[in-house]
Amino acid sequence: MIEIKSKREIELMREACKIVALAHKAIEENIRPGITALELDKIAEEVMIKNGAIPAQKNYPSPYKGVKAFPATTCISINDVVIHGIPDANMIIKDGDIVSVDMVALKNGYHGDMARTYLVGNVSKEAKRLVEVTKQAFYEGIKQAVKGNRIGDISNAIGNFVEKNGYSVVKEFQGHGIGRNMHEDPGIPNYGRSGKGPRIETGMTLAVEPMVIQGEDGILELDDGWTIITEDGSLSAHYENTILITEKAPEILTKL
Ligand code: MG
Repeated sequence: MIEIKSKREIELMREACKIVALAHKAIEENIRPGITALELDKIAEEVMIKNGAIPAQKNYPSPYKGVKAFPATTCISINDVVIHGIPDANMIIKDGDIVSVDMVALKNGYHGDMARTYLVGNVSKEAKRLVEVTKQAFYEGIKQAVKGNRIGDISNAIGNFVEKNGYSVVKEFQGHGIGRNMHEDPGIPNYGRSGKGPRIETGMTLAVEPMVIQGEDGILELDDGWTIITEDGSLSAHYENTILITEKAPEILTKL
């Protein structure tokens, strides 16, 4: 069931979303060659806690038996890591890296979810283009995120744009509704047919998140049970905002 948020709930969503945007701002200001992923994670966590939010990804349970809960505030996924990279003290950010940071703030019972891929130092032209296309794919998607359209219209717009640019979308993971739960209905794949899926209505809050691979479609999961990498070793980028469906164009909630 897709929840339609009340005015009060939307205000609470707005607050959680603003905090996750603040945490991203701190990452953007601090990310540089030599800093470790764990240091970045602590920076984001501090911002959330200072603003009365809980880092919602920390201790998030794995769907697999025997895999520990996610141990950190942020997922930090460098270069060929697609998503769910576990920040570590040995994970040193280097000049030329592209670094995807995904995190969720929880405040007053509501979640805000946001991801960016940061360019560190002298990044190759090809990597920059990948990151730019991933961001633009999000905007192509949310052009379709209007009342009366269907979720498949968002999916189709994202997938088409990515493929037109010579890249692949990740098919095993998708965007999602968000609110009192981090993951709610509907699922929002980054590919698919327009005119399909649930009807989009005012008051829905959605996390739209293209995950794009520079090379061939295909991912692998590492033995830690979390980290997802590209099968062909090519780069990957991620761009995510939590949005609100309105009577007009959608509103991006994860911004300052
Ligand atoms: Mg996210």
